[in-house]
Amino acid sequence: MNQAFLSVAWVVSSILFVSSLRGLSHPETARRGNGFGIVGMMMAVAAVMLAADVGNQLLFAIALGSGAGIGMMLAQRVSMTSMPELVAILHSFVGLAAVLVGFAAYLDSGHGSTVGRGILLAEIWLDVLIGAITFTGSIVAFLKLRGSISGKPLLLPGRHVFNATLFAASIATLLPLLMAPAASGLPWLVAMTALAAILGVHLVAAIGGADMPVVVSMLNSYSGWTASAAGFMLQNDLLIITGALVGSSGAILSYIMCKAMNRSLPSVIFGGFGADPPAGTKRTQTQPQGEVVATDIANLGQELAAAKQVIIVPGYGMAVARAQHAVRQLVDQLRQRGCKARFAIHPVAGRLPGHMNVLLAEANVPYDIVMEMDEINHAFPDTDVVLVIGANDIVNPGAQTDPASPIYGMPVLEVWKARRVVVLKRSRSSGYAGVDNPLFYMENTRMLFADAKDGMEKVVAAVANA
Ligand code: NDP
Repeated sequence: MNQAFLSVAWVVSSILFVSSLRGLSHPETARRGNGFGIVGMMMAVAAVMLAADVGNQLLFAIALGSGAGIGMMLAQRVSMTSMPELVAILHSFVGLAAVLVGFAAYLDSGHGSTVGRGILLAEIWLDVLIGAITFTGSIVAFLKLRGSISGKPLLLPGRHVFNATLFAASIATLLPLLMAPAASGLPWLVAMTALAAILGVHLVAAIGGADMPVVVSMLNSYSGWTASAAGFMLQNDLLIITGALVGSSGAILSYIMCKAMNRSLPSVIFGGFGADPPAGTKRTQTQPQGEVVATDIANLGQELAAAKQVIIVPGYGMAVARAQHAVRQLVDQLRQRGCKARFAIHPVAGRLPGHMNVLLAEANVPYDIVMEMDEINHAFPDTDVVLVIGANDIVNPGAQTDPASPIYGMPVLEVWKARRVVVLKRSRSSGYAGVDNPLFYMENTRMLFADAKDGMEKVVAAVANA
């Protein structure tokens, strides 16, 4: 394929990727946006395959076929609740690919000390640095999200000095790498890769509790920047553009999520900042006082049937139980009875950004009754019943009142201000951040101990008979 065709393919693919991002910004257009992304990627891959300098096309086809096959199998098998783990491990592949491509480019970088070679070596260095951090950081994020290692932050003494030393030592490898003739600087590149790999592990290990969503989107951003650096290295415009799109959209999402969680971006990037309780506060968390009062399906059915205003707060448990269809039935029923029933969505509910919105869209819940936290937090005092379904951290009042809590400072849905709060979950156990929830012990709270799907189906029947 000649260069002109390749350039046209790059431009069209880039336009499709931008259209894809635009479509993905709203639930109504998300499906179309996804379609644009798929067509753009297929076009880009086909163009690369037909490019004159691709080398052994058979090898390329085998790699492409096996990769596509494994990808399709994984995508079909993965459950919605395991999606963040899949995203994290896919980021690690991008990081690993960047490291491998960087090493290949270095071994192929030729001789001499021209300015052009110097720039190429700097690009390789940057690509491998970000790639190695992304690779190991994403693996740690994957293991944490999967529960294979503890989600608690690893807070080594002097951890910030350790990070700074690793980073400075990585930077120190750049000069000898630039000075080394031909491929003789390989040990420096290997040393830098090892330092960056340790940095990646340590940065993500130091982050825990409720900060993991931001880490996943930060790693998404890193994977974009590493692809962009690889694009400069390989002089591939499409890779530069695509990497920049992923890098910047990941960075914007991280910023939005940090704002939603009242965290600063540096605290997430450098890991473990803000993990300590503020000076003068005790590390031990306040134990909730009071008694947990349980309710039953019949009681809840009557309360819901009599309510004029109801707010439903879905969380991770609704996703695990796949209760969204029963929840939609309940909302339909309540609305038919003239009740103002709405959803309150916390920005980090579930295990991935937009998790609840996707599930509710799948159940055909109208978008105009799905409210963001900022839009609905003021409405709780006028609400008769708040039904919390499989949510925990996002409705924890300790985030406002307990400075020793790991989620202190995170904005939460102020459900306790409603006349009645019913929390539907299987037990009193904690959520992702591993903290006790004083909401369960409040006077106006009732606990309905059940599986979210089973419980919701029974509640629908109870409201119908009320
Ligand atoms: P939580 O993890 O705080 O709580 C979920 C609750 O669901 C649990 O306490 C559990 O209690 C209950 N549950 C589990 N299975 C079922 C079931 N089958 N039926 C009924 N209940 C069930 O979830 P939230 O959505 O409230 O908060 C999200 C948390 O995840 C935050 O800490 C957030 O920071 C973190 N996170 C979010 C990400 C994102 O991008 N959104 C990514 C990574 C982490 P029980 O066992 O008693 O039933």
